[in-house]
Amino acid sequence: MSIELAPKLQPHSDVVKALQTLIQFKSVTPQQAGAIDWLATKLTQLGFECEVFTFNQVTNLIAKVSFGSGPVVAFSGHIDVVPAAEGDWRVDPFSGHVVDGAVYGRGAADMKGGVAAMLCATEKLVTQSEDKQGTFYWLITSDEEGEAEYGSLLIAERLAKQGIVLDGCLVGEPTSHLHVGDTIKNGRRGALSARLSIQGKAGHVAYPDNTVNAAHLSAEVVKRLTAICWHKDEASSATTLQVTGINIANVVDNLVPARCELTFNVRYSHGYKSTDVKKEIQFALTDLADTIKIQWERPCESYYTAYQSRDCLLNKLEQAVLEVTGNFPLLSTSGGTSDGRFFANEHTQVIECGVCNNTIHQVNEHVPITDLLCIEKIYYAALRNIFS
Ligand SMILES: [Zn+2]
Repeated sequence: MSIELAPKLQPHSDVVKALQTLIQFKSVTPQQAGAIDWLATKLTQLGFECEVFTFNQVTNLIAKVSFGSGPVVAFSGHIDVVPAAEGDWRVDPFSGHVVDGAVYGRGAADMKGGVAAMLCATEKLVTQSEDKQGTFYWLITSDEEGEAEYGSLLIAERLAKQGIVLDGCLVGEPTSHLHVGDTIKNGRRGALSARLSIQGKAGHVAYPDNTVNAAHLSAEVVKRLTAICWHKDEASSATTLQVTGINIANVVDNLVPARCELTFNVRYSHGYKSTDVKKEIQFALTDLADTIKIQWERPCESYYTAYQSRDCLLNKLEQAVLEVTGNFPLLSTSGGTSDGRFFANEHTQVIECGVCNNTIHQVNEHVPITDLLCIEKIYYAALRNIFS
């Protein structure tokens, strides 16, 4: 064990090399820049059937290997990254250089590290693990960091069209907090944005009786929105609403404003669906309905995976984490949205597990090599639990 982790040997491990290769593809959303082609080649060599399709500049990969009847489980991930400007970084953000025992580069943690680790774990599963059963899918997109309109959504639709029902889906997003495996996500809150046009009546500030002040109305709207009691919230998954903007054009000091635009975003508990959230908000503003127009934007549904009495993916992953780290992971539904929502449904159990997320989207994003080796081991243990 100690030899494997010795600093001298670390840079040469397969997972490090795979991650460095992935980082060197400048796959800023939605460009795959060769990363998906490279993965398809690797997976084909491991016996996967690969289908790569591009739509509106977004490239997706569906790869499949079958070990016979048994569970149908997927690994879901993205190879696209947010932009990175050279100069601010310790190294070129698309070099994958190793500094102080960590691989640096855009996407090192979010989530090329997870993809590289799963690739190595998959290779071990295919070549070293005996008596496998089931079907293993790899579902990779180049549009997770963007609008996610043509990425995992299209992959899920394509699978559905082919009549493929996933029993489980493991998402390789960086979920860990301080140590790899300390936190996994078995759900995510939903997200919903809205743009409110508040219509008042303009007039001279000295004669307010003849006006309806849109700015004052906006204050009432904020008061109502922030006072909503989200009674369907589940434990440890609280709904939060934040006003993100209040805009009044052409502010003049003697004019009562007639119009105000207010924007807000709701992150809602898995106790709600987006339709419930809209109803709660409309109810809170019922008597103001004549003066307000609501335009809903960017809905992302919530999802939640509970323990199952049989074939429980959550159990299998917890066991894998325990086996490798000696500790059970904390379950969480916090953070932003993820592509897990596209694969979750009443039948498909979705769990997210990956490296630490403390440097994601930041300058000098990096992942320690020891963390990479650890997540690879967790993935391999999870795959063995699932497919044997
Ligand atoms: Zn990500």
